[in-house]
Amino acid sequence: MINKEMKYKAYQVHNFRTIPQIEALSEEEKMNIEVVGNVLPFKVNNYVIDELIDWSNYLNDPIFRLTFPQKEMLAEEDFNTMKEALDKKVDRDTLKKTADTIRLKLNPHPAGQLEMNVPEYKGERLPGIQHKYRQTVLFFPSSGQTCHSYCTFCFRWAQFVGMDGLKFAMRETEQLVGYLEEHQEATDILFTGGDPMIMSFKVFSQYIEPFLDKDNKTNIQTIRLGTKALGFWPYKFLTDRDAQDFLDLFKRIVDSGINLSIMAHFNHINELKTPAVKEAVRLIRETGAQIRTQSPLIRHINDDADMWAKMWRKQVNMGMIPYYMFVERDTGARHYFELPLAETWEIFQKAYQQVSGVCRTVRGPSMSCTPGKVQIVGTQEVPINGKMEKVFVLQMIQGRNPDWVNRPFFAKYDEKARWMDDLKPAFGDEFFFDKELTEMIDDSQLQSA
Ligand SMILES: *Cc1c(COP(=O)(O)O)cnc(C)c1O
Repeated sequence: MINKEMKYKAYQVHNFRTIPQIEALSEEEKMNIEVVGNVLPFKVNNYVIDELIDWSNYLNDPIFRLTFPQKEMLAEEDFNTMKEALDKKVDRDTLKKTADTIRLKLNPHPAGQLEMNVPEYKGERLPGIQHKYRQTVLFFPSSGQTCHSYCTFCFRWAQFVGMDGLKFAMRETEQLVGYLEEHQEATDILFTGGDPMIMSFKVFSQYIEPFLDKDNKTNIQTIRLGTKALGFWPYKFLTDRDAQDFLDLFKRIVDSGINLSIMAHFNHINELKTPAVKEAVRLIRETGAQIRTQSPLIRHINDDADMWAKMWRKQVNMGMIPYYMFVERDTGARHYFELPLAETWEIFQKAYQQVSGVCRTVRGPSMSCTPGKVQIVGTQEVPINGKMEKVFVLQMIQGRNPDWVNRPFFAKYDEKARWMDDLKPAFGDEFFFDKELTEMIDDSQLQSA
């Protein structure tokens, strides 16, 4: 049954102790949440608490781990530093400085995002846009830079903790449209954040209207909305005051001939179990929008091949299209959430073999790193200097240079490797794209210097 009166209520580090279900936790467990929640972002809402988490088994609950900070997410030393600061009740400034010092150790901006992907329009840098892959422009609207709940593993975590200068955001739609008019190669605009589905209809529609204008001179053919609202707040499309306005706008977008793709983030099949999410998916699909799904593979949350197979199958049954499985990124609490690439691939393969072709629209596991989206195709034994050696077979699903895409390449097998920078070429001294990539990095550093 869908609660027609559902109203959003969020809890953060300052008031999470007032969550009724939290009483079941020990004082130590609550303290752990408070310590980590003062370094990494923490926000959870009443839907996640009341409808998704199984409180009778919260310690093993994937959605609890997805939203509530875990002690092991911080290195012991950093945990102790923050705990001491809280125990001593230091003032706000000192607390923030303590937190920022720890945060800076956690690679707040992976994959060269600050320097390399920010484009220019009329001689001005546009910090709210990233244009890395030719066809797809990412847009970070300034009012969409928060979420209904935060994911503990989030790779954009730095935006949510108020670290100065580390926030992408942009207000001006004119600059976005102007930029896209000059870049006819861009067919896709991807609204991201944060979560663009945190915006009110009034604010959100202002970003969309220019694309529905008959005189619009961009070449945009797909509008994508990267969102976790279906997982964390499906009431966005059911009971929020402007729910129907959103659905009507989605229909207008589709009717105008633009493909509307909701890029829905689901990390676990438990996010698909409520009547609310089923109804929200049905209503969105009724507008003619498509829903594509994506998630990283994350230790302690979804490192289970059978769960992935069931989740993809269920998504397809609900009318959604599996799109990406990502590798946990090299930022934040990665040491807690990551798996070696070899194990990540094994889980992907074990899940993929269990589903039919309609679910195999999913691609991965994929690392979003500086050269592009690097997919681990598998492992293989090949003769190197007359000796059989194990290698990773890789290819790019997306490339900073489009010509790099879909060209198989090889790295030495390393059972511990967790990210692209742990990998060494299997043949020769460098990967085929390395020289060109170095030139691109040098160029962008000159430009931003
Ligand atoms: C994944 C990603 C995109 C989208 O790529 P598609 O292949 O179009 O899905 C765009 N920009 C960045 C920076 C990305 O990481």
